[in-house]
Amino acid sequence: MWQTNAVAVRAKKGERSAAGRVGCSRTTEAMLIDSPYFPDELEALSGLLAGAGFEPDALLATHADFDHLLGRLAFPGLALGLGEPSVERLHREPGSAQRALRDHDDQFYVERTSPLALGRVQTLPVPGSVELGSEELELHPADGHTADGLAVMARWCGVLCAGDYLSRVEIPMIHPGGSLADYRSTLARLAPLVAAADTIVPGHGAPNDRETAVRILDEDVDYLEALERGDEKPALPKGRDSGEQRDIHERNLAVIRSA
Ligand SMILES: [Zn+2]
Repeated sequence: MWQTNAVAVRAKKGERSAAGRVGCSRTTEAMLIDSPYFPDELEALSGLLAGAGFEPDALLATHADFDHLLGRLAFPGLALGLGEPSVERLHREPGSAQRALRDHDDQFYVERTSPLALGRVQTLPVPGSVELGSEELELHPADGHTADGLAVMARWCGVLCAGDYLSRVEIPMIHPGGSLADYRSTLARLAPLVAAADTIVPGHGAPNDRETAVRILDEDVDYLEALERGDEKPALPKGRDSGEQRDIHERNLAVIRSA
């Protein structure tokens, strides 16, 4: 019904953190990036991950859109890491993620047993990095889709979590608060990260290999040019030329015209 991605990454514990946890025999630390949406997915997540040897120690969201913030519904005890711009956005728009989730749930008749509470939020500097075991997750700015956003590079395992960029199913989407110029800068910033990654995971749609992600990035640069020109009916990339994507283009035009 809807493609959303949550990514779990893990790394061997560093000597310091392995020694620091008395009685903990686990040899890895794991991080859950973004979240699934449907209650049954959220409920199944911890068992599914544990079965694969991933037990998240912390949560991280690429940006403050409601569909990326739901990790605590699966792991209520964990802190949610957010980039500084996302924390600022949540303060600027109090309750808006909760409202957007409720509206979306209403539209799809989704019922939840508990509302979204963000709980303990850990503010992370962007650009910056966060330690995971003996490795480090790089946090790169990725704004433009929204006013906030970060991309996560797990260099040791070749994974780039791009947030809502580089999707095979969605053209670049610019929300009110986002910007065309920032979107472009983000694509330019993502290019060398894509070149250094093996797997590039967008917020929505299948993960891609490097070659596919490079192609999507080029298509997105072309699309942004057509958007900037104000083309009413640009040729949309193959596989992303549906009526729904035309509607997104209409909304993008409205956003850049009112900017
Ligand atoms: Zn999203």
